[in-house]
Amino acid sequence: MTPARSDRCRALLERLSRYVDGDLNGAERRAVTAHLRGCPTCNSMAESLKHTVCLCRDASTTRLPPAVRARAKARVAALLVSQSKTGGRVRATKATAH
Ligand SMILES: [Zn+2]
Repeated sequence: MTPARSDRCRALLERLSRYVDGDLNGAERRAVTAHLRGCPTCNSMAESLKHTVCLCRDASTTRLPPAVRARAKARVAALLVSQSKTGGRVRATKATAH
């Protein structure tokens, strides 16, 4: 409902793939963790990303494959799009095919 919260989630989701990758510094990581604790939406998103990464790291000891990274990023991007759609005014697509 509140745009401010949605903005925070947006910012967080943009960091999420780096967070899961362990690319964030201590302060950033703490900020993300704090947000995840108070935000079920972002938290479940983070969990599923972590899960994907874990499975992947289990399967191979090499670094996260680009394909998985790309998929994770795409997922985050898709979520951002759906969030901005629900947050903003959704264009009523009454597609009456003629
Ligand atoms: Zn959030």
